[in-house]
Parts: sequence; C-alpha cells; structure tokens
Amino acid sequence: MAKITDIQGTFKLHNGVHMPYFGLGVYLSEDGKEVINAVQWALEAGYRHIDTASIYKNEAGVGQGIRKSPIHREEVFLVSKVWNSDQGFDTTLQAFEDSLERLGTDYLDLYLIHWPVKGKYKDSWKALEQLYREKRVRAIGVSNFLQHHLEDLLATAEVVPMVNQMEFHPYLVQQPLLEFCQSHKIKYEAWSPLMQGNIFELPVLQELAQKYDKTVAQIVLRWDLQKGVVTIPKSSKKERIIANADLFGFALSQEDVNLLDSMDRGQRFGPDPDTFDF
Ligand code: NAD
Repeated sequence: MAKITDIQGTFKLHNGVHMPYFGLGVYLSEDGKEVINAVQWALEAGYRHIDTASIYKNEAGVGQGIRKSPIHREEVFLVSKVWNSDQGFDTTLQAFEDSLERLGTDYLDLYLIHWPVKGKYKDSWKALEQLYREKRVRAIGVSNFLQHHLEDLLATAEVVPMVNQMEFHPYLVQQPLLEFCQSHKIKYEAWSPLMQGNIFELPVLQELAQKYDKTVAQIVLRWDLQKGVVTIPKSSKKERIIANADLFGFALSQEDVNLLDSMDRGQRFGPDPDTFDF
C-alpha cells in the first residue's frame, strides 16, 4: 500500500493513473457562492481532488471555483457521476457531455456510475468504457456496487472499474467487500466518511482524539487513509476544510486502527444499494 505522505499524496489506480487519496466532497454544497468558495478554499489549502455529481446540481459552481483559483485544471483530480435517470448507453454519453459543459472542462479525471440501477448499469458501463477508450476520461468506476453487482459487471466488462465509491465509516466497514475490491485492484473510496456529521459524539472517538491531540474528524479520516481507502469529507466552512486535512503529521497505531474497525455495526446513514428506489 502507498505511504501516506501529504494532502497531495496519491494512490495508483490499476491503469497507472494517480488519484489523490484525500479530496473535498460537495454533496449539499449549494451551487453558486457556497460551492465556489468551498472549492477555492480547498484548493488553497492544498486539496487536489473534488468529488461532485450531476445530481448535486453544483457542477457549474465547482467549475467556477476551479477556474477562479490559481491552481490549473490539470492539477485537479475532478470526479463526477452519471445519475440514475440518465443510465443506459446513449443517455450516459449525453449525461457525460452535459456534466463537462456545466463544469466548463473538456475531460474528467474519474467518471462514476452513481448507483447500480437494475437492468441498466451494464449499458451505462459500456458507455463509460467508450469514453475511457476515447480518452475523454482518465479513469472510470462505480459507486454503491456490492460484491454481487461487481461480479455481475465483471462477467462482461472489458475494463475493470478503477474505483468503487461506497458509504464507509466506523459503523459501516464492509471489510469483505473492501477485500474483494482490493483483490480485483478496484480502489475503495469512502463516501460519508464522517457519517454525515454523526461521528462527533461517539465516546470512543473522542477518547482517541484526546489521546492523539487531534479532532474526531482527523482521527477517522486518518483511519480511512491508513486502510488504503480514498476519502472525501464534505464541508463548506473554511476552518473545517482546512482542519479536516490536517492529518499528515501523525499516525494511528495498528491497535487503534483495529479499534476503529471493531466499531462496525453494519449501520448505514445512506440508502442500501440492494433496496434503493430512486
Ligand atoms: P460527510 O460524512 O463528509 O459529513 C459531512 C457533514 O459533516 C457536513 O454536515 C459537515 O458540515 C460536517 N462536518 C465536516 N467536517 C466537520 C468538522 N470538522 N467538524 C464538524 N462537522 C463537520 O458526508 P457526505 O457529504 O454525505 O459525504 C462526503 C462526500 O461523499 C459527499 O459530499 C459526496 O461528494 C460523496 N457522497 C457520495 C455518495 C454516493 O452515492 N456516491 C453519497 C453520499 C456522499
């Protein structure tokens, strides 16, 4: 596993592309001033990875934030996702063009299938493979794919997904899925790493925060990275954006990594990939 060095450190995807292992999530960051500021502050703080999606309705602001910053587009790892109602071959190709237009860019670093929509995700994947072959996107992947979705996809896929972005935090570890992905060289990525803000009250984490003289967010995000999991905490507040990234000057002991692992209760804060209905 790659050494965790600094905010711009990367994990190497199976096609050789380097993906910064730490990024900014922008779900629920409002389009316009809020998301523009968040992106600018993040880039200023050293973030080089922004995670958006067409359904977040803030791609335009994300693009503006990047353009307003002195950091060049090519230095930013930009991720978006095809929404469920756009899935299918032609509609995914169109959704990709629409995302690029809103973002004001001519390529993406990573494009993901947002959810495994039954009967459609294989056609969507074919569209992503085409975009990848045409070099419109540097890497392609999926999100919310459980092992059986991945097995089904892999049975016919020509390109193995480079990434699977999943809900992941101390209450939802899904270690067997993480290991399945690792065994197929599919990089695991955490969404809602801070349990959508529910993580801060947990006594075990507060104790660890005291022990390492760090915040609860820094402890949990550091755990993600030490487990080889890409992480994209969301905040639109400048101080939190900066503080969440201040986790490269310490390391959790293996014992404490195991302690966080042992908090797993299989509890989701988001929808279940087997029963979602949207
Ligand atoms: P998160 O776990 O990152 O938590 C965000 C919440 O925590 C916000 O309310 C924020 O204000 C609060 N917070 C952040 N830093 C804090 C701090 N230092 N102190 C106190 N509170 C703090 O939740 P998320 O936004 O759901 O997930 C992160 C990103 O993952 C999203 O923004 C999005 O990019 C992605 N995501 C993807 C999917 C998917 O289906 N692929 C689903 C949900 C989220």
